[in-house]
Amino acid sequence: MADSPEISIVIPVYNEEESLPQLFKELYPVMENLNRSFEIIFINDGSRDKSFSMLYDFQKKHNKTVRVIDLNGNFGQHMAITSGFANVRGQYVITLDADLQNPPEEIPRIIAKMDEGYDVIGTCRQNRHDPLFRKVASRLVNKATNRISGLHISDYGCMLRGYSRRIVDIIVQSRESTTFIPALGQKFAVNPIEIPVSHREREFGESKYSFFRLLRLNFDLMTSFSIAPLQMVTMSGMVISLLSFIFFLYMMVRRIIVGSEAAGVFTLMALNFFLFGITIMALGVIGEYTGRIYKQIQQRPHYIIRHIYEEKDNE
Ligand code: UDP
Ligand code: MG
Repeated sequence: MADSPEISIVIPVYNEEESLPQLFKELYPVMENLNRSFEIIFINDGSRDKSFSMLYDFQKKHNKTVRVIDLNGNFGQHMAITSGFANVRGQYVITLDADLQNPPEEIPRIIAKMDEGYDVIGTCRQNRHDPLFRKVASRLVNKATNRISGLHISDYGCMLRGYSRRIVDIIVQSRESTTFIPALGQKFAVNPIEIPVSHREREFGESKYSFFRLLRLNFDLMTSFSIAPLQMVTMSGMVISLLSFIFFLYMMVRRIIVGSEAAGVFTLMALNFFLFGITIMALGVIGEYTGRIYKQIQQRPHYIIRHIYEEKDNE
């Protein structure tokens, strides 16, 4: 490509046939009104509905500005974004969800901040419109993750974010098997800033994250950025050993003074169940990390691109 655009918009798409028409309608005018060169990269993350053919048609229509990366299956939102990052041409890179929960009208504000020289523009959803359960869970996750990872992000889940090309290239180079883009971006940022953005309810279709997918995503987030959970397991083991030792001493002294005892069986069982629980959880935490090492050493590609639809195809 002779001249690369200034701005790249990266949008992962997974079964979003209901949202796409509205997205096309809202996003394109916003980009054109900027009066700057841009490209919009859609990543089709193995959609099983009509999303791909809609993207294909849209690309045909806006041949110069729209590119579609068709992945070879469903690799998840963050891998889809990574595949987009690996192919961007712009210097300013902005990620956006396809479901319009973050209105495209916020894009110019992010670009304004990038013009000021910030390299990562984080965002924080104002008046978030999501189910209560998700909001409460998010608040806990945001707090815990900041604690564990040492990062400072007020809203991990908000994907409408801006990254300078330098940061995007570092993210691509990281080649992580499980990742969480906003956290990775923040980690490499030299000059980050956070701005509030508005948030809407998902109007069309439904969230692509089931409860368990959400849980797994959060395990990825926690374990990719810190080994603190492993250290917490070790520390709780130490505390429990210490308490058991004190308990043992007490029982010995009691045996000498009062004599042996046989009652309290259920207390013992309760105590045992509690300790079993902790042991199994500890194995799980270790397993999470082992699983990630396993995935990383397999060296399989983290995403596979079937084809990129862009200008040259239509010549
Ligand atoms: N997405 C994706 N692959 C997936 C799941 C989601 O590309 O496996 C996309 C989805 O199409 C949307 C964005 O990631 O553009 C965010 O998904 P969603 O709105 O379902 O997440 P939520 O807003 O509920 O966190
Ligand atoms: Mg959403």
